[in-house]
Parts: sequence; structure tokens; C-alpha cells
Amino acid sequence: NAPHLGLIGLGTMGAALALNIAEKGNAIAVFNRTGSVTDAFMASAGALAGRLTPARTLEEFVAAITPPRSIILMVPAGPVVDDQIARLRPLLGPGDLVIDAGNANYTDTERRVRDCAGEAFDFMGIGVSGGEDGARHGPSIMAGGDAAHWQRMGPLLEAISAKYNDEPCAALMGPGGAGHFVKMVHNGIEYADMQMIAETYSVMRDGMGFAADAVADTFEAWNRGPLASYLIEISGKVARAADPITGGPMLDVILDKAGQKGTGRWTVIEAQHLAVAIPVIEAAVGARNLSARLDDRQKGARVFGAMPQSLPTGSLDTATLEQALIAGKILCYAQGFEMLARASAQFSWDLPMPAIARIWRNGCIIRSEMLNDMARALAEAPGENLIFASPFTAMLRESAAALRKTVTTATAAGIAVPALAAGLSWFDTMRTPRTPANMIQAQRDFFGAHGYERIDGKDAPHGPWGHAAAH
Ligand code: NDP
Repeated sequence: NAPHLGLIGLGTMGAALALNIAEKGNAIAVFNRTGSVTDAFMASAGALAGRLTPARTLEEFVAAITPPRSIILMVPAGPVVDDQIARLRPLLGPGDLVIDAGNANYTDTERRVRDCAGEAFDFMGIGVSGGEDGARHGPSIMAGGDAAHWQRMGPLLEAISAKYNDEPCAALMGPGGAGHFVKMVHNGIEYADMQMIAETYSVMRDGMGFAADAVADTFEAWNRGPLASYLIEISGKVARAADPITGGPMLDVILDKAGQKGTGRWTVIEAQHLAVAIPVIEAAVGARNLSARLDDRQKGARVFGAMPQSLPTGSLDTATLEQALIAGKILCYAQGFEMLARASAQFSWDLPMPAIARIWRNGCIIRSEMLNDMARALAEAPGENLIFASPFTAMLRESAAALRKTVTTATAAGIAVPALAAGLSWFDTMRTPRTPANMIQAQRDFFGAHGYERIDGKDAPHGPWGHAAAH
């Protein structure tokens, strides 16, 4: 029962993924830089240890795998991946395949695929979402590669992935870096989902005076409605949890400085490269950046005074907040899917849009019931922005007023709701037939002779700006 499979990197994700792979009946060799971690991993593997072949050196590891080998890397993204590939290079042979399953920047994956062109072995990049629990019991897998790579790895990836109504949450996204690109946008959307939930929490806590338990009650109720999702579910659990030290609500002792590993930032940067507007995700990344500046925020409160934040009684209720979050979520996903569509066209990837929504329905952090409707909408109205597809047009018509009420009421009291507000502004722009961009065009023609188009379609010589005619 010699394995064809191997996995390098028995950290949080790698260990869980190796156990998942073994549990599905596959033999797999494992290697970790620090040998004691491998020992501890094997000791924890229980009955699955029989399918696992631990190796002490990389040479031993490669020798333990029968060619053609498929070797999964689960190490930190960046130079560590390049280093691992360099170490594997002399040990691999024709037909071998290296699979980077970490959170690589898609441009790195594209480069590695290019660099492999002259090598005996092949390389593919797959995005894996779901955290440790997902990796252990079924993640969502966004694969990048050729049809041949998918033919080879697809059955395994489908077997270890999460299922939604028996459908595997794993699919081929497209060639090269396509899988890691989709994973990146997934993470951008994750930032936005989390931020919008946090903003409704802020309205409840600071505006409506809710204690943590009342917040938990609200999220639990929302999790039984259209917002049903993993992130709403865990937000309820988080709000309910007690601090083991003080016995008070856990949330109340957690410092309001949010961390990040950078995938949200990458999403925003790539959106700019593609000239696509994803303001909800941008606002979410910005909010995390701003949250880190605790000293400045405390200084701001001293210098300018903190805003009152408490809302007039009855000005907002949880039903309105729920509708606002529904609207914000639709707008955020509309932007995220538009970004994916733009990348698909720009890079000739032919991304399977409905399949992206389908494999996000389970296993990953942004899994939610709404993604089921999104998968259907993207299949029925390909190429159409989600806000123009059924049932989201009707849902937005119903919920947009609640989003406006939430944003204006919160803003009037000084509660910052940057992501919800960004969603609303995007939506307002999307329904404005005449924006003030005519002013921008006139300014550009004035100082730079950049030209403009006329609304009557007539020839448009430079405007009567006097000096600009000299350009
Ligand atoms: P961990 O920090 O838990 O594990 C890192 C692993 O990489 C360890 O096995 C470590 O070995 C190894 N490693 C680190 N540096 C080197 C090096 N220079 N050379 C060789 N091996 C090295 O990370 P995670 O499991 O959390 O993450 C792994 C990848 O998965 C990352 O790309 C991450 O972004 C991605 N990911 C993580 C998720 C999560 O929820 N944690 C979710 C989705 C993706 P050693 O024991 O010797 O230190």
C-alpha cells in the first residue's frame, strides 16, 4: 500500500488535511521540517496512523512515495513555498506534481507554473478554505490548473471536500493562478461579511445599549432566517461566551484591534488593477487597518470628544438591522462576483461563476444559505450583475430602505458603519442615470485636454476653457 501522495507541513492546516486524506482511505507520506512535530502528529493520528508514512528527511519522504507522485505543500505562503520547491526539484521526476495548498498570492502561483514549464514535474495551486475544522472534516477547495491536473487530483479533492446536498465543494476554477485568485476574493468577501456583522453589533451595543446576551439572541434569531451562515452562527456563539477569568462576556474583554494576514488587502489591490469597484471590501480592509490605531483613536476621543452613539429610543430595531445586513451582503457579493467576472475576462480564465457560488455553500468561512440562491442566479443570468438577477433584485427592493435607515441613523449618532455605508453608496450610484462624472470629465479636459463625450453624441472639441486650447 505504498502511497502516491505526500504532504509537507504538518502545522494547523497540513495536519488536519493529512488526517482528512487518510480518513478517506488514501495512503499518504508526511514530512515536517521539525521532526518532533511529525512524531506528535503520528501519535495523535490514532487508527489513521496505518495509512500515514512519516519521513524524517525530504529524501526519505520522496522515496516513500511511488511515482507518479502528488505532493501537497501546506506551509506559509511566500518564500517558504519557493524554498520547498527548490529543495524538491532535484528529487522529483517526470509525472510528479507539486500542489501548493496554502494561501499563495495568485501572481506567485502564475510565476511558479511558468517556472515549472522547463521542469520534469508539474505545479498547481489550490485555494483551501475552512480553517482547521474545514481541513479536517471537509474544506471548500478552489483548484487552479489544467484539465489534466484536475483529472488527476479532482477525485481526491472532491472526496476530502465539504458537501452541500451531496455535491462536493471542490472544483477547477481555471488555469494557473485562477484557484488562488478565487480564494483571495473569497477572503476579501470574508473580511466584508465580518465587518458588516461587526457594524450591526456596534449599532446594537453602542446605539441600542444591548448587552452581549441580547446580541447573541439577535444573531441566533438571524441565523434562522435569510442570513443563515457560519459567520452569523459563530458571532452568536462569540457573543454568548463567558470570559473564564472575569466570568463576564468574553467579547467585553477582547481588545478592539483587528489582525490580518493580507489576503483582504491583496483583493483590494487586485481590484484596483482590474479597475473594478469593490467598496464594501475596501471599507472592511480599511476598518481593520484603522482598528489597529488604538492610540490615535483614544487621542481623537480626547481632542474631538467621542460621539454620543446612543440612538433615540425606537429609531432602529433588530428587524431593520437584519434587513440592512441582507442588503449589505447582497451588495458585497455583487461586487465580489463582478470582480471575479472581470478577472475571468481579463485573464481569459473562463471562471465557472455558478460553480464558485456552489463550492462556497459549505466548508468555507463564508458558507451561507444565500450562496445557494446566488449559484442559481449566476447560472440563470450569466454575465449579469447579481443585483439584476432574481431573487436579488426583489430582495434589494425590499431591504434597501432598511440599509439606508441603518446607515443614516447610525451616522447621525456617530456610529461608524463604513462597510454598510460603502454598500449603500455603490447601490445609489448604480441606480443613478446621471452622476457628477460630467464634472470630472470637464475638469480633465480643462487641465489636461483629455477630451469628453457629449450627451447628444455630437462631435466634442475641447471645451471653451481658453488656455486649454493651447494643449
Ligand atoms: P502553521 O503555522 O500552523 O504551520 C506552518 C507549517 O509550515 C509547519 O508545518 C511548519 O513547520 C512549516 N514551515 C514553516 N516555515 C517553514 C520553512 N521555512 N521551511 C519548511 N517548513 C516550514 O500554518 P497553517 O497550517 O495555519 O497555514 C499553512 C498555510 O495554509 C498558509 O499558507 C496559510 O495561509 C494557509 N491557510 C491557513 C488557514 C488557517 O485557518 N490557519 C486557512 C486556509 C489557508 P515547523 O513545524 O517546522 O515550524
